[in-house]
Amino acid sequence: MKIFQVGGRGYDSNIYLLKDAKENELSVLVDAGTGFDSRGVLDRIKQIENLRNIGAIFLTHEHFDHIGGVPKLIQAIEEEKGKVKVFAHGGLAQAVRTGNIPSARMFNGEAPQFEVEIELVDQQVIKFGREIFKVIYTPGHSGRSVSFYVESNRDLFCGDLIFSNGGLGRWDLYGGDRGALQKSIHKLAELDVKGIYPGHGPYLEANGKEWIALSLVNLRDCDLG
Ligand SMILES: [Zn+2]
Repeated sequence: MKIFQVGGRGYDSNIYLLKDAKENELSVLVDAGTGFDSRGVLDRIKQIENLRNIGAIFLTHEHFDHIGGVPKLIQAIEEEKGKVKVFAHGGLAQAVRTGNIPSARMFNGEAPQFEVEIELVDQQVIKFGREIFKVIYTPGHSGRSVSFYVESNRDLFCGDLIFSNGGLGRWDLYGGDRGALQKSIHKLAELDVKGIYPGHGPYLEANGKEWIALSLVNLRDCDLG
């Protein structure tokens, strides 16, 4: 499986395209950006993959900069006669159903409307093509955050829980919780992680376990200082 960052501009989250080396396997997107630069995102995706070959959109959490672009991506994929399913935490599905996305206003956007077909829970295993993804419920940055761990590559998609080089997600937004953030990072620290693919900024292809440990040190230093 190859990983490409096809994220957009400005406030967009990173958007990852996970493409199997085999031609006939479906690809996965992780997160969808705000939707403000959907044309640019779709152009970058099309350089790598046929839209009709994208079978799933995995969402890390409910913030608008990660999910605002979902409807336009679904529309573009379905126009190419593809079928795509959205995978996200059940709380995110509920928030989208009820239009309860407070972060949309922060970005001058509107709560996006779409269906979450697969509602995820902690430790759920997703078999997609030849890959196995493990879902880890990792609240703290938001109450509905999940991380996706790819067993074959030992890669981790952690949304905004932690960032590269020991960075930490905010816990002062709606649904955020510092104690939960710490517990969630401890959960990730138990995994054998190689690559870290966060929701913003650069990703790291190696030494993931050490970067997670550094995030924990930095969190402790926040308390001291
Ligand atoms: Zn966020």
